[in-house]
Amino acid sequence: MALPTKLLLEIVTPDRSLVHEEVDEVQLPGAEGYLGVLPGHTPLLATLGVGELWYRVEQETHYLAIASGFGEVLPDSVTVLAQIAERAQDIDVGRAEAARKRAEERLNKNVDADIDRARIALMKSLIRIQVASRARTKV
Ligand code: ATP
Repeated sequence: MALPTKLLLEIVTPDRSLVHEEVDEVQLPGAEGYLGVLPGHTPLLATLGVGELWYRVEQETHYLAIASGFGEVLPDSVTVLAQIAERAQDIDVGRAEAARKRAEERLNKNVDADIDRARIALMKSLIRIQVASRARTKV
């Protein structure tokens, strides 16, 4: 049987479908590290963390910020169920900068109970800022 040459990428969140597209390559922000997927990949399920997801269609690369979810990889498809997902061009950088400042202030105060939440909030804000900058520079 011939190997697939494309991947059908689906990215959905609890309230919307963001991507439904044939793509050439995907990188997922796995909880244990970034995971690159090309057509014909071995089937797997991955827990996703806070990070950048990108996918390539021919020469064009598209970027999204992702926070928590699952990814199912099959030889001819990648399905992402994400708690939070935003395309680079939809990210409000001012809001992410404000969230970063709040999280840094909470971490500096060092209130034990809030440390984990503040770390995650900081991580989300930094990823949003990074992903938004991709839209501007068109890497
Ligand atoms: P904030 O403190 O600014 O509300 P947050 O990290 O607490 O940020 P989330 O709970 O992750 O926000 O997201 C709530 C909703 O707001 C989601 O739909 C998410 O996509 C959207 N959202 C959060 N921050 C941004 C941003 N900087 N740009 C665009 N959408 C955002």
